[in-house]
This record gives sequence, C-alpha cells and structure tokens, in this order.
Amino acid sequence: MSARAVKRVAVVGSGVGGLACAARLAHRGYAVDVYEKLSRCGGRAHVIEDQGYCFDTGPSFVLMPDFYAEVYRDCGQEMAQRLPLLRLDTHYAVFYPDGRQVRVFHDEERTAEELERREPGAARRYRDFLRDTGAMYQAVKPLMYRQFTPAALADVRNLRLLPALQVGATCWQLAGRYFRSEALRCLMTFESMFIGVSPFSAPAFYSVICYADHAQKLFHPRGGMYRIPASLEAIGREKGCRYHYDCEISGIRRESNGGFLLKQATNEYTADAVVVNADLPYARQHLLQRRIAPYRYSCSVMLFYWGVRRPLAGLEHHNIFFAADVCANMRRIFEDSRWPEDPSFYVHVPTKTDPSLAPPGKEIVYVLVPVPNLRQAGADPHAAVEKVRQLVLEKLRQVCGVEVEQSIDVEHRFYPRDFITRYNALYAATFGLSHSLFQSAFFRPANTDPKLDGLYYVGCSTQPGTGIPPVLAGSKIAADLISARGG
Ligand SMILES: Cc1cc2nc3c(=O)[nH]c(=O)nc-3n(C[C@H](O)[C@H](O)[C@H](O)COP(=O)(O)OP(=O)(O)OC[C@H]3O[C@@H](n4cnc5c(N)ncnc54)[C@H](O)[C@@H]3O)c2cc1C
Repeated sequence: MSARAVKRVAVVGSGVGGLACAARLAHRGYAVDVYEKLSRCGGRAHVIEDQGYCFDTGPSFVLMPDFYAEVYRDCGQEMAQRLPLLRLDTHYAVFYPDGRQVRVFHDEERTAEELERREPGAARRYRDFLRDTGAMYQAVKPLMYRQFTPAALADVRNLRLLPALQVGATCWQLAGRYFRSEALRCLMTFESMFIGVSPFSAPAFYSVICYADHAQKLFHPRGGMYRIPASLEAIGREKGCRYHYDCEISGIRRESNGGFLLKQATNEYTADAVVVNADLPYARQHLLQRRIAPYRYSCSVMLFYWGVRRPLAGLEHHNIFFAADVCANMRRIFEDSRWPEDPSFYVHVPTKTDPSLAPPGKEIVYVLVPVPNLRQAGADPHAAVEKVRQLVLEKLRQVCGVEVEQSIDVEHRFYPRDFITRYNALYAATFGLSHSLFQSAFFRPANTDPKLDGLYYVGCSTQPGTGIPPVLAGSKIAADLISARGG
C-alpha cells in the first residue's frame, strides 16, 4: 500500500522542536495544527514574568548558532531580524572550592593565558584540544540532520567515522589526554551536564559541546531566551499554523481510513500525519498505550529564580561553581540517586548582558542544581532543598561580598516533580532520555515510529538528542520525512 498523501499535520506539543517543525511544514504549504497542554508555547524553554523581572526558566546558553540560523532560513526568514543575538565577551566564570577562579573568554588567547596560570603547559594543549574536538564537530554536525537506525552501523561510510568520534572513551578520559589537573578536566567536561549526563560516563563525542562553547562563541538573544520559542511561534502563525493551547492530548489512534485521530478531554481532532513533540517515552506509554523499553534517563535539576534588588559584583552572565569533590557529587546523583550535599551548580545572571530583563539596577539570578531524576529517588526532599539553597546563598555571599538573600525581591522555584506535572517528562528527567553510548546516534529512538507509518517524533528524547540545536535539527529531519511522502 502506498503511503497516504499528507496535507494536514497535527503537532502534539509546542516545545522548541514542535514549534520549529510546525513552522517549517507551514512554510512548505501544509495545514498545521499544534496542540499544547499548557497555556503558552515553549515547553522546557518557558518564562515567568513577575514584578518587572523576566525569568527564563530553562535553557540559557545559545551554542552552535548555525543550527538556529538554518531554521529561520528554511522558513524564508533572516535570523538577524527574528532573533537578534548578542555575543558575550566573557563566556563564563568558574569558581573552584579553593577560592580560585578561571574565566573563559570570547578571545581564545585570553582563555589560554588563564588556563596556563592554572596549569603550566595548558595553553598549548588547549589549542590541541580545540583542534581535535573541532575535527570531531565537523564529523558530527552533518550526522545531526540524518535519521539513523542500528542497521546504518553496517554502512561503511558510518563505520569510517567511528575513530574520529573516539567511541569507547568518555568526556572525562578525553579531557585527561590534554589536561593533567582535575580543575581543568572539570572545566573541559562540565558541559556534559547540559545533556544531563555525568562527564565520567558521557561518550567522548559530546565534547563537541565544549568545542562549540569555546571556539564558536556564546550568544544571548536580545530580550531573553523566550524569544526563541516566541519567534518560531510567530513565524508559524504568519504562515497559517493554528495553535490550540490548554489542550492536552490523551490518546493517538490510527483510523480505518489511514489517517489519525487525536483525543482530548472534550474534543477529537483528525490529521493525515502526526508529529509528537511531547517527550517520547511518555508519549509511547500514555498516548499510544505501549510498553516502553527499559530506557536510561537523564538527571533532573532543582531551579531557583531570584529577582535581586541590587547589582551583584563578582558574577558574570554564566557562572559555574564546582563541588569540593566533583566525582563524589556525580556518583551521588547518577549512581546512588541521592540529593547532593555539596553540589556543583550553575548560576545564570542574564541581566549582566541584557538589563531589559529586570527593573533598572536590579538583577536576575537563576540557579540550577543537578539532582537525581525521580526514577529511584522518590519525592523531592524538603530538608535537602533548603540545605542546597542555603549553601548556594553562602557561596554567592563569598563571591559577591553581600547577603544576596536579604536583597531578594521575588523568588520562584522549579522542583524536579514540576517537570512531570508541567511537561509530562517521565521521571522528571530534565533532559529527556539519557545520552549514554547506547542511547546516542544509531541507538537513540528514531524520528519515525516503528509501528505507525505517518507518526513522527521531534524533541529531546528522539534523534539527534537534547538541547536546542539538536532539537532544531530533529525538526528538520521530521519535516523532510513528511515532505518526502508528497502531498
Ligand atoms: C533547566 C534547563 C536548562 C537547559 N539549558 C539549556 C541550554 O542552556 N542550552 C540548550 O540548548 N538547551 C538547554 N536545555 C535543553 C532544551 O531546553 C531542551 O532540549 C529543549 O527545549 C526541548 O525541546 P523539545 O522540542 O524536546 O520540547 P519540550 O520542551 O519537551 O516541550 C514539549 C511540549 O509538549 C507539551 N506536552 C506534553 N504532553 C502533551 C500532551 N499530552 N498534549 C499536548 N502537549 C503536551 C509540553 O507541555 C511541552 O510544552 C535546558 C533544559 C532545561 C529544562
């Protein structure tokens, strides 16, 4: 039987991947309906506006700007018009438990000097590291726009890539070939936490995130991260997409005519094809009523958002604080499923670059603490949350020289359980399915459903993976697969 012609596409979920796929398809002439459980778009890239403060609640790093530019181009738009990006001169400050600090700059030579001060000989090895991870990035980037199955491993062209990707090594082991000190190995591997995996188990090819961050530079969208989903939604709307908010889909079924039926509490909708942007393991289990594979899940995070009524000296736009024992901290989260006592954490102060996000003279402070997902860990432990909050405030006091807590105007929190109740993210896995070797590339769930022709997946738990650039690439894979069917 030939594939059913597709004219009407339903997208379930308005995360960045769902929005990008919807806009691409609408630009290509499809009639697109987006169904979203929440009352506005963005998914994990959400925003809270309160008393003049604008808190981006999820992503904060714009890395790999090519992936962003590609989507706007594919929709016939100029990124500079729809998403103006500001370039950061200081990428981030790193704070070590011994009180020392290292800064990573836009200017690689300045960064090399910083590293040399911390570890003699590191400047030269830093250049080698960027050269080698740059080669890895060149090998990985085209793969991110292709859907793979395990069978593709037999393709000799793919096999040839394996040595460049250093399959078999971890990010930590790769960094250890260039940097002797634990301090610099931590600095060159912490990005694996952006995909919710410990650097001690993340496959070495995820070091491309570190390469992108150092060599391709860091950006911030003028007006905040929420400009990303907002601009994609606006493009889709201009091209005729219809968005249905407060509309949680409860089931997806194949109809006898070959189309799809989507059920919601009070309505039913039909479509020729469906793009599922809701998290893949949740969707398979709850929308398609299937048993799911024994997947591994990324970690969760605890987030604090503070509107602070005074400028905070000593902090940069992005700040990383390392635990006294990084290895023990990772073991606790990933192996023991216990809340950290002395965590590494990340502090985002976007008002350093973009004062428009807070009232004049005030600062936004967003704190992200990696914690175990809820598969084994159970409910969020109240005492541990308060302890972590005090520890963060104490470290900020040491760096900024002021009692930050007494200057907090507004506080919001996002607990691990909120990932389940808000986004339907199974086990509160912040970054979706884990990026272990056997859940990466060929082994990650594909963008096409194995059982239902015409059903596609876009988002952090499908190929190519989590983070805005991969999710944007995945939206092209799905849109191209639908276009290839003909209309
Ligand atoms: C705290 C945090 C920090 C991050 N930092 C970065 C960063 O700095 N840089 C970066 O690039 N990436 C970062 N990421 C990752 C990035 O935000 C995500 O990978 C990306 O936004 C996920 O997009 P998605 O397309 O998978 O959709 P999601 O964001 O998962 O959205 C899915 C949508 O589907 C909706 N939905 C679920 N079930 C249903 C249903 N039954 N019916 C209708 N709708 C439904 C949900 O409400 C949600 O809106 C971060 C993520 C988080 C949470």
